[in-house]
Amino acid sequence: MQDSHDEIEQLKASLSITTVAEKLGLNVVKGRCHCFYPMRHAHGDRTPSLSFSEERGLFRCFVCPDVRGDVITLVEMLRDCSFNEAVRWLKDEFRPWMAVEQGTPAPRSNSTQSAVVERPKPPEISELQRMKVVLSFLKKLDPVDETPAKNYLIKRRIFKPVWDKMRLRYLTRYEEVSLELVKEFGLELLQRVGLFNEKGNLRYFKHRLIFPYLDSEYRSMYFQARTIERDVKQKEMNLAGKVPYPYNLQVLDGKPGWVYLCEGAIDTLTLVGRSMPAVGIPGVNSFKAEWVSYFKNKNVVICLDQDEAGRNGTKVIQELLNASEIKNTVNGSLLLPERFRMKEGEDMNDYFGGKH
Ligand SMILES: [Zn+2]
Repeated sequence: MQDSHDEIEQLKASLSITTVAEKLGLNVVKGRCHCFYPMRHAHGDRTPSLSFSEERGLFRCFVCPDVRGDVITLVEMLRDCSFNEAVRWLKDEFRPWMAVEQGTPAPRSNSTQSAVVERPKPPEISELQRMKVVLSFLKKLDPVDETPAKNYLIKRRIFKPVWDKMRLRYLTRYEEVSLELVKEFGLELLQRVGLFNEKGNLRYFKHRLIFPYLDSEYRSMYFQARTIERDVKQKEMNLAGKVPYPYNLQVLDGKPGWVYLCEGAIDTLTLVGRSMPAVGIPGVNSFKAEWVSYFKNKNVVICLDQDEAGRNGTKVIQELLNASEIKNTVNGSLLLPERFRMKEGEDMNDYFGGKH
């Protein structure tokens, strides 16, 4: 069930951010603790940089521009989960009666002392199960050639050789694919992989253009979905769970060379179409510290959007790459004549003449 805005605010207001932080394993002393990304800090954040405000229910790191937020953000970051999963976890841990009110049957408990009701947790799904489901979904999709995605891509100056090379797909047969998947895997597994929502519907009804994240052997365990409709606010949807590696991983082959690091699949494909070695991260803040090793021997040009969020994200990525001594530079930092520079608010696709 989707929580209303009021319910979320009420839940946040009723929780102590320090208590939640401690439950997540952080050692909070006098409202402070070490940053989750010590490698971004001088001396591994020996003097704690992360502070909590009990009154405002917020946390922030003084160094990392992306390490800040409320109690839900904190759970999302530390458990590497979605917003909804974070809310569910908070309820399970701290407000189990709220979960019960929402129709989950209350398990019997002999303990009257504790307000916390133990709920059996479903076993984790294995990587293999997850991969099978994702591969089966991708197989049921169509090449973009004869679909509404064709014009969308052409307008953005992304053409057929790139569609084919990167195996772009479109969810044409929404109803049929949905039924086939349920028959094959059962709804529960599909929901846990994140392909189906809590109401039992296949996601991506409005996000039908699918970018598979191919690995070095052209298999795909992850994908990003995009809407081609103008009026849909959320343009992209990521599959729940960990992003295993950057988009277009083949480029990161360990051989010396340049690589352009872009934000989102569209920007990445824009450069791929110009025969530039480009990889993508799903969002401006989604670069993972554990990905740094993929960039071994590469000279990285960071090409995030020319805006506030892009600049902050760039700073974080630079710090991570610098810490591992991977050479990097920011796109546009070279002395280019004004007309060749990216304008404020532009992304790589705009820069290369893509139309919305
Ligand atoms: Zn930090």
